[in-house]
Amino acid sequence: MRAVRIEGPGILRAVEMADPEPGPGEVLVRVHACGVCRTDLHLLDGEVRIPRPPVVPGHQIVGTVVARGKGGSAEHSLEPGMRVGIPWLGWTCGRCRYCLAGRENLCDRARFTGCDIDGGFAELTVADERFCFPLPEGYDDLQVAPLLCAGLIGHRALRMTGDAGRLGLYGFGAAAHVIAQVAVAEGRRVFAFTRPGDASGQAFARTLGAEWAGDSLAGPPEELDAAIIFAAAGELVPVALRALAKGGVVVCAGIHMSDIPAFPYEILWGERSVRSVANLTRDDARSFLALAPAVPVRTEVHPYALADAGRALDDLRAGRFNGAAVILL
Ligand SMILES: [Zn+2]
Ligand SMILES: [Zn+2]
Repeated sequence: MRAVRIEGPGILRAVEMADPEPGPGEVLVRVHACGVCRTDLHLLDGEVRIPRPPVVPGHQIVGTVVARGKGGSAEHSLEPGMRVGIPWLGWTCGRCRYCLAGRENLCDRARFTGCDIDGGFAELTVADERFCFPLPEGYDDLQVAPLLCAGLIGHRALRMTGDAGRLGLYGFGAAAHVIAQVAVAEGRRVFAFTRPGDASGQAFARTLGAEWAGDSLAGPPEELDAAIIFAAAGELVPVALRALAKGGVVVCAGIHMSDIPAFPYEILWGERSVRSVANLTRDDARSFLALAPAVPVRTEVHPYALADAGRALDDLRAGRFNGAAVILL
């Protein structure tokens, strides 16, 4: 099969690989589309460690089940021909204190798609069938792909803001463009912060229901009850804290962030808090994939051929599109 692999920091290469074979409890999936995530950039840049390179990145996989591995459980839910989505969470141990407490996103031995397990920048992939999800009808392969990480992580981050009525989104990329629609549907007021001078991104945010959009370093027109930081820029943490009303929370939703500069305690005082969101649980996936069509969430997608995966990542890095890039096979 054709695939694109990360072979080391900064090294992305198109390769021919042997077709993967599903083991017990696994399915072989023909990939139709795979969303491109900022985490893929962090993996390529060496900011997030790949345990055993090389690895095929891509963890927003949409495909069709081709075969089930031999020797799996008699109880299974997937059959050849079914369309499934495969997200970042690829395997959990089911036994550690986090798994037993319903917090499998924090599993000590979790394995992640496109990082520990070969992902979806390939014609075929193999996944544990317990971590594959049926996808809502009404979305084609291209449009549904960004729901699988941008949507899922955005959803988890949004839940961490409780019932905050005035929500700031810092970094208006793939995740923010999905979750802004959910927040507006829930009756929240959305304030979008983009890279300074990104008039196109600010206009895009307004079309998705943001009542205000402006530069990230500018203050909002009024206090916020919560802020989600999707950008990988640590300097935004004190910026967002300064924008918060008392009791507000700053949620850092990325897997990697540059160092957070020191800040005066008084901007945290008043029961403000800063927290991160890590990974997702299967419950997050099930609940968000049911919620998205009800909103309904619409995604803005930009297709790239597999051979152009490097260009997709470059365009993401440079902020050359609004919404999400998707590799279309
Ligand atoms: Zn575990
Ligand atoms: Zn992701």
